Amino acid sequence: MTDKRDDQPAPETIAAAHGVASDPSFGAVAPPIYLSSTYEFAGYDTARAYDYGRLANPTRDLLSDALAKLEGGAGAVVTSSGMAAIDLLVGQLRQGDLVLAPHDCYGGTIRLLKARADRGQIALRLVDQTDRAVFAQALEEEPALVLIETPSNPLMRVVDVAALAALAREAGAEVAVDNTFLSPALQRPIALGADYAIHSTTKFLNGHSDVIAGAVVAGTKAQADQLRAWANVVGSSGSPFDAWLTLRGLRTLFPRIERQQANAMAIARHLDAHPAVARVYYPGLPSHPNHAVATRQQRGFGAMLSFDLAGGAEAVKRFIGAVRTFTLAESLGGVESLVAHPATMTHADMGEDARRVAGIGDGLLRLSVGLENEADLLAGLDLGLAAC
Ligand code: PLP
Repeated sequence: MTDKRDDQPAPETIAAAHGVASDPSFGAVAPPIYLSSTYEFAGYDTARAYDYGRLANPTRDLLSDALAKLEGGAGAVVTSSGMAAIDLLVGQLRQGDLVLAPHDCYGGTIRLLKARADRGQIALRLVDQTDRAVFAQALEEEPALVLIETPSNPLMRVVDVAALAALAREAGAEVAVDNTFLSPALQRPIALGADYAIHSTTKFLNGHSDVIAGAVVAGTKAQADQLRAWANVVGSSGSPFDAWLTLRGLRTLFPRIERQQANAMAIARHLDAHPAVARVYYPGLPSHPNHAVATRQQRGFGAMLSFDLAGGAEAVKRFIGAVRTFTLAESLGGVESLVAHPATMTHADMGEDARRVAGIGDGLLRLSVGLENEADLLAGLDLGLAAC
């Protein structure tokens, strides 16, 4: 699926096998889990490789190494949630530093940034990053950090990371890309010029809807060391058990995402031709306004898509009552298919006005497409659409 890079194992090999058979004690093939919070010193003033679990843990380190390699970064910090990963970067800023973020990113990200801005800890500008002129104008305010989310949640807007990162760096800003929707299997922001790739590993990286966790991968060792030190200061490191589960989920990342995006493409085409659907948002469709840039910068179009029901909010209620195979739930990226209504679920806290500006209507539904049989998925959706 991907090409090999220099003398490193290919990404599929890293995901499937990083840390396999590396157990120094018993030669366990599956890496063991180290739950201990603390480690015996070798003697007076002589710590071993590990001393206290908030700073570092062998199981968590194995996952951070795997994620750093997959993202092509110099190091990574694994955190207790995706929000903790974003806040790790934001929390490092100085008082009054400006964060420039997309106006239509994940509702929890907007809530976090606004909460920090309301408390006077940062300044915040939310703009439509697909509008290059608006983006360039916002850079004149000299942001310290530019946050990019592509594809965006829930409208699947895709921005040109290489172009935006080049402009942002020229303006003296660091650039972080939330890569949750695609994972490094399909997009590598650091290679495109970003300083950091952020993840809610809760989603595709773990892939089984049984962990809340996150990660920040840094492009340089200095950035990674600083983040690791800051995670120790604020105590946002992830738990060893969650890291172990996430590493286990990571093993199958590539085949999962390949199959899930094939299902998503079939669903996008099906919805696009259905009379109950007003509009489909999936970058894999040639009609998507950012199809060209998605084709260029991604290795695939991913397993997330959204669509507007022609009948608006009333149709949404009927659809939700009748749809099968898709479970009504927040979150995404698991092996099972989910449907969410952003206006009342993931993006409810944004408020109606902000949702309207971002283009998130009451008739919008978001799908996270899983590994079920394609015909079952289409049949389940058709039951919902027939009720609209
Ligand atoms: N970033 C994106 C794009 C998300 O969709 C989410 C959660 O849905 C997050 C970050 C936050 O992640 P978590 O729920 O693991 O804190």
